[in-house]
Amino acid sequence: MPYIHLLVAVDLTEECDPVIKRAMDIATPNNAKVSLVHIVEPMAMAFGGDVPMDLSQLQQQQLDQAKERMNRLFTKYAGIQRGDSHLAYGQPRQEIHKLAEQAQCDLIVVGSHGRHGLALLLGSTANDVLHGAPCDVLAVRLAKKDS
Ligand code: AMP
Repeated sequence: MPYIHLLVAVDLTEECDPVIKRAMDIATPNNAKVSLVHIVEPMAMAFGGDVPMDLSQLQQQQLDQAKERMNRLFTKYAGIQRGDSHLAYGQPRQEIHKLAEQAQCDLIVVGSHGRHGLALLLGSTANDVLHGAPCDVLAVRLAKKDS
């Protein structure tokens, strides 16, 4: 059975291009839909809970920047379903699963860095999304970055 609706999880860096392209390669021959999802993680979560300052302005900037980057992707990839794409606040795994269910997606596509060593212990979004996913998950191998 060919996939009908693919949900591409994008981190909005330049690394999301190979992930979107892979999804398009799968979707195009079957006229499947491709939607994007990006999750903005609450600042307080990144700082580990209680932060004694008002982060609302910073969060708004974060959201505005994400919106702008998503719009750039819609312009670049004409085949993407704008209406079914989402920008949400929260924890990536939880939100991606929820949106995949709501939009009745049958394939989630994520990028994977093929980590090892300490980075492997810290885990990856791809690994996280795989666990408990409501549908198939494709991890697109991303090239290693020299850092
Ligand atoms: P990471 O494990 O954070 O290096 O990210 C690997 C992949 O997870 C990315 O290529 C995206 O497909 C997905 N991803 C990471 N962060 C997010 C996010 N905030 N929202 C949606 N997808 C994400």
